[in-house]
Amino acid sequence: MDTLILRDDTVLDHNPGPGHPENPARLAAVLKDLDERPIIGTRTVAPRLASRSELERVHTSAHVDIVESTEGKPHVVLDNDTVTSPGSWLAARCAAGATLSAVEAVVSGEASGAFALVRPPGHHAEAGHAMGFCLFNNVAVAAEHARNELGCERVLILDPDVHHGNGTQHAFQNRADVMYVSSHRYPFYPFTGPVTDIGNREGSGFTVNLPLSQGMGDADLLHVYQDVVTPIVAGFQPDLILVSAGFDTWHSDPVGDLGVTRAGFDALFELFSAWSDAYCPGRLVATLEGGYDPSGVVQGVRASLRALTARTSASSSGEAGADIGLDSAPCSEARITAVEARKALAPWWPKLRQG
Ligand SMILES: [Zn+2]
Repeated sequence: MDTLILRDDTVLDHNPGPGHPENPARLAAVLKDLDERPIIGTRTVAPRLASRSELERVHTSAHVDIVESTEGKPHVVLDNDTVTSPGSWLAARCAAGATLSAVEAVVSGEASGAFALVRPPGHHAEAGHAMGFCLFNNVAVAAEHARNELGCERVLILDPDVHHGNGTQHAFQNRADVMYVSSHRYPFYPFTGPVTDIGNREGSGFTVNLPLSQGMGDADLLHVYQDVVTPIVAGFQPDLILVSAGFDTWHSDPVGDLGVTRAGFDALFELFSAWSDAYCPGRLVATLEGGYDPSGVVQGVRASLRALTARTSASSSGEAGADIGLDSAPCSEARITAVEARKALAPWWPKLRQG
């Protein structure tokens, strides 16, 4: 079965203006690359638009009104670094809609894995306001749709973007039905997501924060996911996995300043794919978040699609993905981060006390 690519030029009509890092060129580079070097096992379709009621599962109607009111206007400043253009309202509805289309396709079994190639990104958008280049929280809207309409009971959101997805965490931090896992540089914009944030009330233990330091690379990123998240995913048993696929951890990204290479993107998405194969085969959806060096976004999308189209065999002994490796070893600081995260989450996930 094919992996679906959700693609629509409507999302290129959002343009925050000259010199803005989140510009149409970053996605245009990905589309050109896929046209020139298509990936075997993928199929491209046009997405639908998100409806107002779908957006309002996450956002206030006042916020949806504000974004709608920008339609056709040259430039409207919504926060310090979030600016709209005449086509932004439609682009933002298309970005959320593509993520919804992707989820519908994998849950119905029409596709084995899907990638929504969208912008503007979503994970900083809060219920009531735009933030950090994001208008609507695409991944949160998709998780709510999966819970409310598609029969999914345990949705796992993985967010390896270099920034913490404050909007996504806030949407789900009091709940146990949608787990949010973020690795991010910290302290760094938006300055949320310390390791001690593990969710509240019924959501305690269902928010996982993995803070990284400037310059960390492939082995560090892979280590925190394998060491902390693999046992939690085994306990959570997701029936859908959504990835906030940000590629601003790339070594040449002008914003992120981490050191991740193509090998790191490959290993990370192989791990995500192994979890999906073990707990929810075919139900892995990526939606594009950040990434501001076009070549890094191209490599990240190729790595993701490569992992989505290559079916891994779930290990029968031990935990899914435990054997995915890299040539290099994690630094001591990354090991300490993993120890701290295990300690913070161990009361809710007994498996973290072992090993
Ligand atoms: Zn980012």
